[in-house]
Amino acid sequence: MKIEKSKSLFSRAKNYIPGGVNSPVRAFKAVGGDPIFFKSASGAYMYDEDGNKYIDMINSWGPMILGHAHEEVEEAIIKAVRNSPSFGAPAERELLIAELICEMVPSVERVRMVNSGTEATMSAIRVARGYTGRDKIIKFDGCYHGHGDSFLIAAGSGAMTMGTPNSPGVTAGTAKDTLQANFNDLEGVKQVVADNKDEIAAIILEPVPGNMGCVLPQQGFLEGLRQLCDEEGIVLIFDEVMSGFRLAKGGAQERLGVIPDMTTLGKIIGGGMPVGAYGGKKEIMDYVSPQGPVYQAGTLSGNPVAMAAGHTILNYLYDHPETYGKLESNTKKIVAGYKETLDVLGLDMTINQIGSMYSLFFTDSQVTDFESAKKCDTAAFGQYFNLMLQHGIYLAPSQFETLFVSAVLSDEDIQDIISANDECLRAVMD
Ligand code: PLP
Repeated sequence: MKIEKSKSLFSRAKNYIPGGVNSPVRAFKAVGGDPIFFKSASGAYMYDEDGNKYIDMINSWGPMILGHAHEEVEEAIIKAVRNSPSFGAPAERELLIAELICEMVPSVERVRMVNSGTEATMSAIRVARGYTGRDKIIKFDGCYHGHGDSFLIAAGSGAMTMGTPNSPGVTAGTAKDTLQANFNDLEGVKQVVADNKDEIAAIILEPVPGNMGCVLPQQGFLEGLRQLCDEEGIVLIFDEVMSGFRLAKGGAQERLGVIPDMTTLGKIIGGGMPVGAYGGKKEIMDYVSPQGPVYQAGTLSGNPVAMAAGHTILNYLYDHPETYGKLESNTKKIVAGYKETLDVLGLDMTINQIGSMYSLFFTDSQVTDFESAKKCDTAAFGQYFNLMLQHGIYLAPSQFETLFVSAVLSDEDIQDIISANDECLRAVMD
């Protein structure tokens, strides 16, 4: 496979853009090699600058659930651009998307649009702090909530460890208000809460983490957090930037039947445009400016082009609930194919899957939290990733990312993915 143009563009980009990419996860640092530069994408496929075609298993890290360049979304964007890319003043589409989000996501009675998932989570914890009058938050090791200072906290040595910054630039003052816990460890969370009685504003988590690979909440974990938050007056925030509109039209909360106080959204909500949102109970969201005292604003928030894209894709998902069946069956077919290969090769590797999210972990241990995810053989994964790339399958360039299946994969695509996986695993394990 020729990737000369990508290589040349990357080497030029490094002279002007830090690390040559506009988001670190796009670099291939964890897997070796240089990132591919893309020129276009349509449906299930992406095409690079050298003319190579790939089946896309990341789908822009989640948003392209209906595949790339979906006709209705594309038309809505073009129409909106012609009416001006930005008003900086209210427009009907903002109301329509807000109504739809409140209808679709069980916990959301009021919603504020922002421009990214990071803005959504940063704003949500500010509101939770304003609402409770408390400073501390609990986050889970291995959960990612964007690059807000409060969330860039190192995986420490246990649930009760006080946070320390893992990125230079995050002050110790900020880090001390972020307490860590282990995913799926309810007793550990209870201990952190007991040690910080009446000081915790919010518990924030991905109800189905995708940022340590795909990890599933164990029976009773989310329910236990819900109960704990009710007892202790803590705001429970589900970060559904990934899982929102993906695991069900109402996200993980609908699928798993646990309703948080606040929800953060992103990715699919923008149909490929830069959008995020946070929402929740009216009583809490009434704290947001200009209704309430907690300040949060945005020049381009509710941008008409982004709202047109988002509203169109959400409308589609609302009107076509059968999409979720298709997503699930596509993913199950892929996972069944993988399992067949593992059986034939006598390999004991872990596959976690829910809806259209799944991960193949290069470990024989169960992956239930960050510690168990870290047991993976990342060198072998790097080899596998690069082989899959050569077979025309574009995976996330890290073992610690979920894959996202789109609704537009054909049975032939699925067979291609399964065959490539089979060949690449054989080669890696040889
Ligand atoms: N929350 C979760 C669960 C995410 O997966 C991400 C990004 O991947 C974010 C927040 C941050 O969103 P963004 O990259 O749009 O700022």
